[in-house]
Amino acid sequence: MKMRYDEAVNWASHQFTASDTAKLDAELLLLDCIAQDNRSYLFTWPDKRLTDAQLTQFQGFVKRRVSGEPIAYILGYREFWSLKLAVSSDTLIPRPDTETLVDKALELIAQTPFEKKTLLDLGTGTGAIALALKSELPNWQIFATDFNQGAVALAKSNSRALELGIDVRHGSWFEPFQPSQSSFDLIVSNPPYIELNDPHLNQGDVKFEPDSALSSGVDGLDDIRLIIEQAKLYLAPGGYLLLEHGYDQAVSVQTIFAQFGYSHIASCQDLSGNDRITFAKLL
Ligand code: GLN
Repeated sequence: MKMRYDEAVNWASHQFTASDTAKLDAELLLLDCIAQDNRSYLFTWPDKRLTDAQLTQFQGFVKRRVSGEPIAYILGYREFWSLKLAVSSDTLIPRPDTETLVDKALELIAQTPFEKKTLLDLGTGTGAIALALKSELPNWQIFATDFNQGAVALAKSNSRALELGIDVRHGSWFEPFQPSQSSFDLIVSNPPYIELNDPHLNQGDVKFEPDSALSSGVDGLDDIRLIIEQAKLYLAPGGYLLLEHGYDQAVSVQTIFAQFGYSHIASCQDLSGNDRITFAKLL
């Protein structure tokens, strides 16, 4: 007798002992195998049965999850800002907390009469931040960079698939742009910010993600320092730089902004109430 949907979820979730979200993981993997989008389908049809091909695929997925691979890499996509984004091991998996950065950028844009309507996302990865912003700001010109060729290809293909036109360029941080010829109203980034020796880097889903997207020097602030310094050459007068950072880095990031002469420095919190975004204005 073939396996029922509820039996499949049960069987898989019991093997995901290392996951905090074992049942959800099993449901998401099963939904992909049966080509359904909505978890409610599983609650409506618990007694439907997998075909042989679906079961084979599901067993393969379960094996990968048991070995620790993140769900987003197994499925090949992750939702961010209601957009379905392809992800790969070249990029960080977009996090819900990063939506806070998108929210803050939109809020600043709503409050400020920016003239050029240009924005740059540094280290775009899947293109998550740039594409979310483009979906809300169709009249803006949105640029993005990444030093990883695989990420550039992925962000471009996400841009095509979602029909959201962003300009993705290959290079480290500001490298693809000339300071004299470019000035952006906003620059945003979710750069790597974890301390080099943080044990968190070798645990759970994070150990499958690229280190270059996660850690940055002994105090985790090497890239943030560099971006804050260089952004001065690329921001339009009155423009803002917004950065995501670690839960305990807000004071350090504010201090760096102050050292480089920015004004209106402030931080805001993520969904769990941790300081997660710090932003400032260049007068
Ligand atoms: N917030 C992520 C984590 O703690 C890190 C993201 C990043 O380095 N930009 O796993």
